[in-house]
Amino acid sequence: MTGNERQLTLPIWNQDDVSGHIQGELWPESKESVVLRQDEQTMEHRGKTEEESRGGELNQEQDLEALKERCLTCTKCGLRADCTHVVFGEGNPKAKVMFVGEGPGRDEDRQGRPFVGAAGQLLDRILGSIDLSRDEVYITNVVKCRPPKNRMPNPDEVVACSPYLDAQIRRINPAIIVCLGALATKTLIDKNAKITRMRGRWHEKDGILYMPTFHPAALLRDPSKKRLVWEDMKKVKEALGNL
Ligand code: SF4
Repeated sequence: MTGNERQLTLPIWNQDDVSGHIQGELWPESKESVVLRQDEQTMEHRGKTEEESRGGELNQEQDLEALKERCLTCTKCGLRADCTHVVFGEGNPKAKVMFVGEGPGRDEDRQGRPFVGAAGQLLDRILGSIDLSRDEVYITNVVKCRPPKNRMPNPDEVVACSPYLDAQIRRINPAIIVCLGALATKTLIDKNAKITRMRGRWHEKDGILYMPTFHPAALLRDPSKKRLVWEDMKKVKEALGNL
C-alpha cells in the first residue's frame, strides 16, 4: 500500500484504560536520561517567504542519503557556525512513525546523532513501552544544528531548516508523526499551538496523523508528565495497530 492509498483511522481512546503502572515501573528513573511542500497552501500556513520557498529544490528526487549529504554541508543559518556536527536524523527510512524533537543538545552535537543524551535514553524507554525500537522508527529534530547553550531555535533558524524536515517527511512518508514538544508541534501542526492544550489529540494533515506530546527533556524536569506521555503513546500504539 502506498502512502496515498493509506487508510488512516483515528483511534478511539478510552480514558478509563489508562494504565496505572507508569512512573517508576514502566519508565524507571534513570540516573543519567513537512513535508517541504511546494504547494502554496503549506507555505502560506507556515508564513514562509519567497526566500525560503527556494528550499523547494530539496524536492528533487533525492533519496534520504543524498538529502543527508546535502544537509551535512548546510550553512543556511548561523547555527552551523557554533556546532560540531549537523545532526540530520536516523532510523528506518521506511518507518511508519517518525519522532520529531526540537534540536540537538550537547551529546547529540558531539556524536552527530539525535536523542543520545539523557532525554534520548528516556525516549528509548518510551519507544520500548509501545514495543518499538529505534530501528523501526525515524528520529530527527526541527533544526539539525545545536543552538548555543541549548536555547530555543529562533524563528529564522526554524524557517531556514524546515525544508530539510519537510523533505525527510516526504522521503519517509510516515503514517504517524509524534511531535516531541512545543517547537515540533508549532512547526508541523500549528504555529499558535500550545503543547499543554494540544498534546494527546490527533491532528490529520496531508494524510499524516500527528500526535503532539511532551518532549522527553520535559519529563526529566517534571516526572509527573510521564503519565500523560504514556497515555499519548498508547494512542500511537493503537493507531499503528490500525494501519
Ligand atoms: S540548522 Fe539547519 S539550516 Fe541551519 S545550518 Fe544547520 S542544517 Fe542548515
